[in-house]
Amino acid sequence: MNSPCSGETFSGPLLSWYALNRRNLPWRKNPTPYRIFIAEVMLQQTQASRVVPYFARWMKRFRNFSMVASASLDELLLLWEGLGYYTRLHSLAHACVEIVENHGGGFPRGYREALALPGVGPYTAGAVLSMAYNLPHPAVDANAKRVLARYCDLEVPVDKGNDALYRERSLFFMPAGKAGSFNQALMELGALCCLPGSPCCRDCPVQKGCLALSRGTLAHRPVRLSRAKVRHIQVIVGIILWNGHVFLRRRSQGGLWPGMWEFPNWEWNGENEAGSIRRLFMREYGLEPEFQFSLSAFSCSFAGIRAKMFPLVCTLSSLSACSGENVRWTGRSELFDLPLPSAHRRIAGIIPFSK
Ligand code: SF4
Repeated sequence: MNSPCSGETFSGPLLSWYALNRRNLPWRKNPTPYRIFIAEVMLQQTQASRVVPYFARWMKRFRNFSMVASASLDELLLLWEGLGYYTRLHSLAHACVEIVENHGGGFPRGYREALALPGVGPYTAGAVLSMAYNLPHPAVDANAKRVLARYCDLEVPVDKGNDALYRERSLFFMPAGKAGSFNQALMELGALCCLPGSPCCRDCPVQKGCLALSRGTLAHRPVRLSRAKVRHIQVIVGIILWNGHVFLRRRSQGGLWPGMWEFPNWEWNGENEAGSIRRLFMREYGLEPEFQFSLSAFSCSFAGIRAKMFPLVCTLSSLSACSGENVRWTGRSELFDLPLPSAHRRIAGIIPFSK
């Protein structure tokens, strides 16, 4: 360990800074294991400001693990809609069931037991155990890793494969009996001061010991592996109207937006929209839609993909049999009560039901 990276020069000033500068976030009030767990799952890959209204709605509806465990999938999805990364919601729901069935309705105190819950990795386990029970486990998110990489001038890339090393560094700095505050302070410093582009070193409580600052390597810390390229695609979206209703399908439980409803859609090469949509509906649902007109195309991004969406309004001359658990005909008012991916909610808002 390099000498400037000592626990004293780091954790003392960091905790004092945190006491004065921490944001007034709702999950920091009344920090029960349940509230912290829900907040930590919501915060995965999502900014705190975005999570705040979702957290408030969720807490109003579900006050404990048991209420989540007994809720329907559609109700959970509807409260989560727009927050993205829906797999974490499914894992959260399963974790709540396990907590109720195997842990008496309380988040377990053991690290191994916490890690065994669906969707709970080292970060979430460390965050809940340290913040709810003050147990000495590190919780190192992207903000904390950036601070550690700069403060210790680490050449080790901040990629998942190196998480264990960053957790060790954090544990080295963690003062006894202050795990919860320390973990939050470290992440808060990354969120408010040691920013990704240009860090505010002048305001930083640990600038005296910061190796990247003193060595002039800031521009190269943290080290990242190169990102995957964004894939550009076109997507054809079929909106079949029949007697004031529109046709929807439910997405599978695996992959993106698991269990949500959507208008059937397919990756498209741009050829003959009317013929393409008819052929695809025939093949998958035995329906023969007549293309009527296009709605405005728009672009959206998800999971490393940039998609241009082409919504096509179609009608049916006759309704052939097409039913099942994963398809439905839905009226206008009911449509807005269903969990839809954001691109499909956008389309739902412009469907001309009355035409
Ligand atoms: S001195 Fe600057 S680079 Fe170093 S930890 Fe503080 S904000 Fe980050």
